[in-house]
Amino acid sequence: MEQKVCKWYNICPIKAFFEKGKVKQELVEKYCFNKGIGCKRMDMEEKGIFEPCNMLPNGEIDENLK
Ligand code: SF4
Repeated sequence: MEQKVCKWYNICPIKAFFEKGKVKQELVEKYCFNKGIGCKRMDMEEKGIFEPCNMLPNGEIDENLK
């Protein structure tokens, strides 16, 4: 499981939100625990585009994430 974790996971705000129970497990499993494949945050990060903290890996903005 270790190598399947996204390389950004430890510094990604989604980790902290997930640990507080604010992000659904299925999203984290689909993206963060699957090498970040298809993650919009990762996509933007790698293109050097600023991504808001409250953007989920699927690109949706969740206003409850603070
Ligand atoms: S949200 Fe995206 S960038 Fe952040 S840890 Fe998950 S897969 Fe990686």
